[in-house]
This record gives sequence, structure tokens and C-alpha cells, in this order.
Amino acid sequence: MISADRALRIILDAVPPPAIETVDLPHAPGRTAAEDIVAGGDIPGFKNSSMDGFAVRSASLKGASPGNPVTLSVAGESSAGNPFAGRPGKGDAVRIMTGGKIPAGMDAVVPVEKTGGKSTRAVTFHEPASPGDYIRLPGEDIPRGRRVIRAGELLTPYHAGVLAATGHDEVRVSVRPRVGILATGDELISPGRTPTGGKIRNSSSYALMGLVREAGGRPRFIGIVRDRKKSIRKKIGEGLAFRVLLMTGGVSVGAHDYAGESLRRSGVEIKFWRVNIRPGSPLLFGVARGTLVFGLPGNPVSTAVTFLQFVRPALRKMLGRTRLVPSRVRALADESLVVKDGKRCYMRGIAREENGALRVTTTGSQSSGVMTSLLRANCLIVIPEGTRSVRRGAPVEIEFFNDPF
Ligand code: AMP
Ligand code: MG
Repeated sequence: MISADRALRIILDAVPPPAIETVDLPHAPGRTAAEDIVAGGDIPGFKNSSMDGFAVRSASLKGASPGNPVTLSVAGESSAGNPFAGRPGKGDAVRIMTGGKIPAGMDAVVPVEKTGGKSTRAVTFHEPASPGDYIRLPGEDIPRGRRVIRAGELLTPYHAGVLAATGHDEVRVSVRPRVGILATGDELISPGRTPTGGKIRNSSSYALMGLVREAGGRPRFIGIVRDRKKSIRKKIGEGLAFRVLLMTGGVSVGAHDYAGESLRRSGVEIKFWRVNIRPGSPLLFGVARGTLVFGLPGNPVSTAVTFLQFVRPALRKMLGRTRLVPSRVRALADESLVVKDGKRCYMRGIAREENGALRVTTTGSQSSGVMTSLLRANCLIVIPEGTRSVRRGAPVEIEFFNDPF
């Protein structure tokens, strides 16, 4: 049995470099950038007003006060997209709107709220202005030459905005890997059917589809297959058309666990089988002609945990993401924890902050059949190999489910 770290290294070493495609901006958020983006010009591109008001020469308002107001004539208007065409004279002001270009020679804006007078031809000021007041400078947001996006970054809606502002209407991103999901087990029926005679509803496939999508892949349910070597091999054949094949169940040492043998006979080179972890120790990984194949244990919790620990990092690497695993943070155990066999253990935890310290409890039963332990959890508690117990109050490492890594 290999260690979790070794297993992850073997998996990541087998991941091919990301495939790349171009998408238009509306489809950019949620994708991973496959190129660096450098601003080709300053943003803003010209001096403009951050307020509705009047552009002035600050020198003209020297000494202005409520007792000594200064009135300037209004030479015209500069609104967003419609600059003032002329050259304002020495004693002029120009009515200006937010985003309007600062007219030549003017160095300050006075917000309209601070001005007086009813005439449209003149405006009165009651206080001085300083050079630069309410003026946005060229390059103040993004100077020309600044790298605004790095390859490997997850693109957010804000990135789409920045791409548009810097003159890009499309962006190169990594291709979202297509992931086939195959459930094996004589007991499995579809969720819409009523189980009788020892059957259960296939639940793991649906959790997996969501997890794949969250991780940036494109899930596709291939179906349920009975524990028959021939049927399994037929479905594996279908599954090998995907970049990643996730097969659940039948990977352990039971009399009807045919996953390993069927995969091998379908031409999958098994890289490892069984990892020193709990839950999920029967995990299998192999490769076949450009497809990464995971045999995930059938217990729904084992399926989810092995996905998070081993499949998600692989999908992220396929996407070209720079960070593959979430950060581990320390929390204080609010209960004593026992690991029977010294395997690396992933417990479902509920972490919360109390008086500035992070504290964590388990969700209760850690049996790998208890799906609801995942519903209530917000993190995994990771107990290292060889640790058989953790005292109440001792520090443990946790990984938050919603770590924005
Ligand atoms: P196996 O890995 O095939 O030995 O299955 C281990 C346990 O997980 C058994 O109790 C199975 O019934 C259950 N199981 C297997 N596949 C699924 C599935 N797709 N959805 C829900 N439970 C499953
Ligand atoms: Mg089974």
C-alpha cells in the first residue's frame, strides 16, 4: 500500500499538459487563463473627471471663500465620450461630467455640489481647489505594460471586465476536461426508481458530477453497470473516450469486485491500487491512451474524499491551475480523535472560530457510508499517517471545503 503523498505524485506525473482553446469574454469567467495578459495601454487612457462638476484652473480659484466667492464663465461642456473641443480661456470653467475628458490647461474639478449660481453661463466657487482634485490620471488603474492576468489564474467576472478594458474580446483558456462517470454495482438503481430487494439508489454519481463541475471539468454520466465482467468492460470501452474516467465501486477485494481486472483487460495500465488512507483505501489509478482512470471506492463518503484528495488535483493540473491542493490550516480539536489503524485519515469536520482561535469538531459517525457527514461538514480534518489519537485541545490540520485556492 502506498502513501497518499506518493499516490498523488504518481497521479500528477501522469497528467498531460493542458489543452488550450479560445473563448469570448462572456464565457471567460470560471475558466483558467492559458496566457499572460499584459495591458497594451494606460487605463484610464486620458485624464478624466471622477465627479460631475466644473473643470477649472486651480489658480483661478486662489483665495476663494464664502466671503470672497469667485465667479467664472462656463465655456462649454465635457461629458463622457464628448470632450470639450476648444481651448478654455484663463477665467473659464468647463462643465464636466464623470468620465469627461479634462480640457486642455485645466488641472482640477470642483464637484457641482460645491458650486453656486443659477446661470448656465457662469458658475460661482466658494473655496479654492488644489491641482489634481477629482481627476483620474492616465494609467492610475492599470499602467501600460502591467501584467493583469497570469496563465493558470481562475478567471472571475472581474477578469472579464479587465480583459474588455484592455482591449481583448477573447482569451486563451485551458480546455475543460471531459470526465466520464461510470457506476458499477448490482445493487444500484436510478434515483427515480423505488428500491426493492437489496437495491439502493445510485447516489455517488450525482455527487461526483457536481464535484467534477466545481473542479472545472465537464462531467458526463455513462451509466450504471452490473457486476459482470463483460458489461463492465464494454462500459470501460465507452469511458476511455473521455480524458478522465471515474469508475465507482467494485474496486475492493470482494468476490464481485471486478474493476481492477476489467480495467487491466481493457488496456488500462494500473499505476497503483490501494493507498494508506481512511476512508478510501481501495483507490485505484491507471492510464490508457490519453485517459486518466480512477477506480473510486463505492461508499459515497470514500468516493467524495478520494475525489477531493486525488481527482480534483489532477483536474486542476489538467486545467493548468497553479495551485492544485487547498491550504491546510491549524485548528484545535474540540474532541479527542481516534484512528484505529494509523492510516492517514480524513475526517469530516465542522470548524468555527471562537475567541480568535479556530476550533473543529467531527460531524459524528465517521463511517464511510454516512453521507450526511458531508452535508454538515465544512472541512476535512487531516490526521497524518502513524497518528493513532489526538487529544482534545490539541492542534490538527484541516482543509476547508470552500478554500478559494
Ligand atoms: P463497493 O466499493 O462496490 O464495494 O461498494 C461499497 C459500498 O458502497 C456498498 O455498500 C455499495 O452498495 C455502495 N455503493 C457503491 N456504489 C455506489 C453508488 N454509486 N451510490 C451509492 N452507494 C454506492
Ligand atoms: Mg460493489
